[in-house]
Amino acid sequence: MRVFRFLPAFSLFLVVSSFAQSTPSQLAFNPDAIDKAIDPCVDFYQYACGTWLKSTEIPADQTEWVSFTELYERNLVTLHDILEKAAAGGEERSAIDKKIGDFYGACVDEKAAEAKGAAPLQPYLDRVNAAKDKGALIEAIAYVHVHGPNPLFNFYSNSDLHNAGEVIAYIDQGGLTLPDRDYYLKTDQRSLDLRKNYEQHVANMFELLGKSLNTTWDSKAKAAAVLKFETALAEASMDRVLRRNPESRNHPMTTKDLPDLTPNFQWTAFISDEHTPSFTKINVGNPDFFKKLAGIIEQTSLDDLKTYLTWRLLLRSASALPPLFVQENFQFFGKTLNGQQEIAPRWKRCVRATDRALGEALGQKFVEVAFSGPAKAKALQLVDEIEKSMKQDIETASWMSQATKQQAYAKLAAVSNKIGYPEQWRDYSSVIIKPDDYLGDEERAAAFEVRRNLNKIGNRVDKSEWGMTPPTVNAYYSPPQNNINFPAGILQPPFYNPKADDAVNLGAIGVVVGHELTHGFDDQGRKYDGAGNLQDWWTAEDTKSFEARAECVVNEYDQFSPVDGVKLKGKLTLGENAADNGGIHLAYMALMRDLAGKTIPNTKLDGLTPRQQFFLGFAQVWCENATDANSRVRAITDPHSPGQFRTNGVVQNMKEFQQAFGCQAGDPMVSVQACRVW
Ligand SMILES: [Zn+2]
Repeated sequence: MRVFRFLPAFSLFLVVSSFAQSTPSQLAFNPDAIDKAIDPCVDFYQYACGTWLKSTEIPADQTEWVSFTELYERNLVTLHDILEKAAAGGEERSAIDKKIGDFYGACVDEKAAEAKGAAPLQPYLDRVNAAKDKGALIEAIAYVHVHGPNPLFNFYSNSDLHNAGEVIAYIDQGGLTLPDRDYYLKTDQRSLDLRKNYEQHVANMFELLGKSLNTTWDSKAKAAAVLKFETALAEASMDRVLRRNPESRNHPMTTKDLPDLTPNFQWTAFISDEHTPSFTKINVGNPDFFKKLAGIIEQTSLDDLKTYLTWRLLLRSASALPPLFVQENFQFFGKTLNGQQEIAPRWKRCVRATDRALGEALGQKFVEVAFSGPAKAKALQLVDEIEKSMKQDIETASWMSQATKQQAYAKLAAVSNKIGYPEQWRDYSSVIIKPDDYLGDEERAAAFEVRRNLNKIGNRVDKSEWGMTPPTVNAYYSPPQNNINFPAGILQPPFYNPKADDAVNLGAIGVVVGHELTHGFDDQGRKYDGAGNLQDWWTAEDTKSFEARAECVVNEYDQFSPVDGVKLKGKLTLGENAADNGGIHLAYMALMRDLAGKTIPNTKLDGLTPRQQFFLGFAQVWCENATDANSRVRAITDPHSPGQFRTNGVVQNMKEFQQAFGCQAGDPMVSVQACRVW
């Protein structure tokens, strides 16, 4: 998965078990989750998770509950403890404690938010309202950009697609509030209803804002203007499936080309107002979007443009405003859109907010209590084993020519690994955090990140930087950096237990490592070379073979339906499905090498062989209950398949699984046309 600030990264794995009490050898799977009435060859997911699914409810403040959510919740408690102590301490606190403590303390102070009303937002709104014409509005757009809510489009820095060591400027489509362009464009009843709800929500927020600022305005008209403007942006946007192909986002230009795209947008003024280092090189993610943007700006009145900018500021600030705003925001985004029954307690929201705003300061404290040095060494050793498997996998790929294999080996050898946390912590000393100004704290922290990102333009890429904070329960592969990254948050039981058998860890974190490594060679990753450049290193024949194999995976997952009337998009989920299918093979190969060396006793646990335990461990990562609403949002936006299909979609392709459980031809878990990429 690629990670940067505009794309929420999300991808996970895990082995369930009551980790605190278990002995290491029991950690591979949770016998209590199994439904023994189900034949594993008929529905392996129901077999592995059936009892868990029936006995586990989605907590009211969640939209889904996956077996590994426990670990995430445990990390939240650890962070909560750190932050409560930091917030309570006096003047003798360390600089970091003061920063995170004051931020968190300001966030949890609901009474202060109530007393201030929307007044803290006023100076930001004034900047927007001061513009006398569309030309003067450029400064306001640049200003709102820096403060986080990305109006109209995205502007940021990233590594050059063709010279991965260098950071250049990017502009790309953006500016939407709903999770995908589809939400604005689809005409089925559910989509129409949702848009009506969204419009009402925007009107309600403007109504609250007007009351709080003692201003009267037509909130309904404002909401209609926002929806109309965002719908026009959605119409100009490229769809998510097309965007997965890095080539469709590859449009190197210079700043001189920008006026040709959007003649009525003053790019020179905008870039100057962003105070970036000077530059000429820029990649335009979707030139067509910027061409259409000219017409959209032309057709939208100055007042409506201001309304849209006000909406983006209001949206960004909702969590820092009085409880009525917070509730209204939750009613739409939590309840209506995702089916969440209750808002999470304020402390949880504030822990997450601190992680987002000052993640490497909070993370520094987190690793002190939750991550040990030996864990890092052992994790590196495991990664090494999985990389050995990948080499073996490439060697035995019958469909790949020697020429392409040589390139693949070179790319694999160039993969680097980052474990735990950054070697150099981010310095937040320039971010002013005031204990009584939560909205201001949020805005200043957001501006710090935007400035930090933009200031990289023209510099060399710093590969030591992390795209996730240390407590994050997740992992990622970065194609331009060709590295795999495992934050401390995921390197804990039950994902990873330094005291457990290798077999146990292979079934859990080993599959995660395999998944991330496979991303380097999935339909997106394979387009980058070992240096991280977008460059084709495949022979034409091998590309054809790869695509035919990938097509099999697309067709397989196209058939899966997570909720009535909804099918998965095989093309949207292809990269993740390929990584799931490949990752488990890599971990399994490492298990076989280990078993051959007899370092793992070949004993049965609960009547199950080590091979069966391995597959159970894998499946039980994915035991998952989700609201229907959440399943619908994810089917449109999430490149990952739901747990049920991450499990069954994989094992039905695997003869190693079928052998382990004695499945026969004709069983549902034995695919007639088994797919295999890696
Ligand atoms: Zn992934």
